[in-house]
Amino acid sequence: MEKRSDALQRLRRTHEEVVLAALRADGPMSRARLTEDTGLSRTTLFAIIAELMERGVVIETGAEDGRPRQRGRPATRVSLNPDAGLLIGIDLGRRRIRVAIANVARQIVATAVDDSAADVDEREQAELAIGLIHKMCQDEGIGLRALEAIGVGLVGVMDAPDRRWRAVERLAAAFDVRVEADNNARLAALGEQTWGAAHTTEDVVYVRWSVGVGGGFISGGRLLRGAHGASGELGHVSVDPAGPRCHCGGRGCLEERIGIPALLEAIAARGVRLTGTDDLLEAAQARTPAVTKVVVEAARTLGHVLAGTVAQLDPERVVVGGDLATLGGLVLDPIRSAIGGLALPGTRRTLDVVPADLGPAASAMGAIALVLKEHDPLPPRTAGS
Ligand SMILES: [Zn+2]
Repeated sequence: MEKRSDALQRLRRTHEEVVLAALRADGPMSRARLTEDTGLSRTTLFAIIAELMERGVVIETGAEDGRPRQRGRPATRVSLNPDAGLLIGIDLGRRRIRVAIANVARQIVATAVDDSAADVDEREQAELAIGLIHKMCQDEGIGLRALEAIGVGLVGVMDAPDRRWRAVERLAAAFDVRVEADNNARLAALGEQTWGAAHTTEDVVYVRWSVGVGGGFISGGRLLRGAHGASGELGHVSVDPAGPRCHCGGRGCLEERIGIPALLEAIAARGVRLTGTDDLLEAAQARTPAVTKVVVEAARTLGHVLAGTVAQLDPERVVVGGDLATLGGLVLDPIRSAIGGLALPGTRRTLDVVPADLGPAASAMGAIALVLKEHDPLPPRTAGS
């Protein structure tokens, strides 16, 4: 008997997911249209909707054409309840903290940033994130009662739990929900795949080119973490075995060659003094010759490294994010031609190299995608919570 009811519950759960997926994809609709779209029987669909309404996952939102019908009951539409199944994504970066909040319909309803987080420890980072979340909820009128889970993006390799986990534990204690964490560049890849430039693409190479160089690979729809939580570390591919020591312990790492500090140094050596990222981007946009030469050369070097990744992983799309990607063709064209010249000819034919879509909130959004992928964002079945 036990087994049979388990099987029935599983089946019901699958039907539920079909209904929720239809509502997520197409927004509010009538029960009649839902029956058509999902292929479920009328009886099954009505029972599922009734249960989802009881649990507060879906709500009724009024007539299909805005008017009640002449005869019989008005054809009310059902939609996902925007006040249920809240998910929060937090990106604990080296210099700033970003937070994104999504509702049960997987829509991002708020994003915010705290720039005061430079050089603070994990505990303080967690406190700043908690403060930022409460402020966002207050400003946007979001109730935390519906909070389901929190995803957290952290800097560095995700091998064994270390000091960084103090922030994760503090967040779990503060909000009393499931908290999951992953490397923030990998989460940016997941964010781009869920909402951005790699949407609906199952095989993606993502690179983030800023002060540091990081990345994330998605293969067959799954984010690759690797055996030691270090998958996607494109910045630490050596491009010069005799090059300078990197903080990772290696020599001649890509990050040491093309990260923003290295670019500023190379540009200074050509007699142009720039003070930081904004300055660099402005000078590159203005096509200052010394600047474009260094940036294009760096893009070519990145393209060479990516060509190896493309030959190995056979992605459908390469997404370039980070500050440098905002320069568009200036960096994308040399990357495209380096990949085109070096990767397998068969791959070259169908490979897109595109700029990232989500901007600096990509990792926080990816942190939401991280908790989305594991469980459907449904409110708990127990009453009163
Ligand atoms: Zn390195």
